[in-house]
Amino acid sequence: MKKKFETRAIRLQNKQTGEREHSVPIFPTSSFTFENSEQMRAVFASEEPGNVYSRFTNPNCREFETKMASLEETEDAVALSSGMSAVFGALMGHLQTGDHLICARAVFGSTYQVLMNWLPRWGIETTFVDGTDPMTWAAAKKKNSKMFFLETPSNPGLDIIDLEKVGLFCKDQELLMVVDNCFATPYLQRPMNFGAHLVTHSATKFIDGQGRVVGGLVAGDAEHVAPVRRFLRNTGPSLSPFNAWVLSKSLETLSVRMDRHCNNAFAMAEWMDGLEMVKNVRYPFLPSHPGSAIARKQMSQGGGLFTFELKGGLVAGKLFLDNLQVCTLSANLGDTRTIVTHPASTTHHKLSPEDRQKVGITDGLIRVSVGLEHVTDLKSDIQQSLDKVC
Ligand SMILES: *Cc1c(COP(=O)(O)O)cnc(C)c1O
Repeated sequence: MKKKFETRAIRLQNKQTGEREHSVPIFPTSSFTFENSEQMRAVFASEEPGNVYSRFTNPNCREFETKMASLEETEDAVALSSGMSAVFGALMGHLQTGDHLICARAVFGSTYQVLMNWLPRWGIETTFVDGTDPMTWAAAKKKNSKMFFLETPSNPGLDIIDLEKVGLFCKDQELLMVVDNCFATPYLQRPMNFGAHLVTHSATKFIDGQGRVVGGLVAGDAEHVAPVRRFLRNTGPSLSPFNAWVLSKSLETLSVRMDRHCNNAFAMAEWMDGLEMVKNVRYPFLPSHPGSAIARKQMSQGGGLFTFELKGGLVAGKLFLDNLQVCTLSANLGDTRTIVTHPASTTHHKLSPEDRQKVGITDGLIRVSVGLEHVTDLKSDIQQSLDKVC
């Protein structure tokens, strides 16, 4: 019988070396040796498994890839140096000049920049659609459309996109379905079960979960991962063995961390929803979220982030941020520490105010990545800061 998620996340380790170590060591080596010229030839030609050079593979990267493929329930996975190199690798591995891409508008800021400003240089065009409105998907479809890219829940607006509907649309229209699963992690949501061909991750976020390393990964069936691996081999955004080791270790605690992130975030969102000064609290599992029924269909819990606005708008928002004592102002998310950001002036400042409006980023929007601290301390920190705002 297939072992459960938690057990696989812990027990899928590299084989022991001769030292019989319990915890897998780090392999800080740029290259590997061969028994003889014939073995070297065979490994180079990928006829035999084995390591050649750490730009291609390394035992620590392979362990991380094997674990993630198992957790995402895919055939294979390839580790890359960051979430953005994972997104870029998925795009470069599968698109060429003349191709067209459909993308849900509410995607990560840098993903939006790649699609808007970089891919058009190579003649790859994108149409942005409302991920929550299937009518706009069909209208965007062109003869040369190759891919549908989306993120759910989205960063930072927490849009929920119906993965089952996108899966059916992509099957019908013969599009490659690529899902950025950064916010949910495979513990909460596995897009492959809804027809996704590739899943991308910023492992920097919940997968590390402790704000230490930057990393990324693309998972999918072997056929679709192979071109991404070739892109990595040739162009070199490789994950370092140390970062891969940290990330493999982090996966051992992913389930317990996610349970706490989700419980804390749900409790905080519900509490803030009842406060007089606060409006538009958004959390995927709150009944007031327009996508809550879909979220409950495709996610096992609501995730570790929520957003809200203060009735006092931008001025009140800035005062609120400046008076926090426990929560940190930082660009990261998915950390043990609760992190509060103001997307309009930071991650999404490059977007025009109209484009920000379209993806639900109002000037007063505040994003909270809820950490693992005790929820009582988080509530009192927010309360004391709110008291200073009014
Ligand atoms: C952070 C993030 C990325 C980019 O990941 P990096 O590791 O910072 O390169 C991509 N997608 C989403 C949803 C993210 O939150």
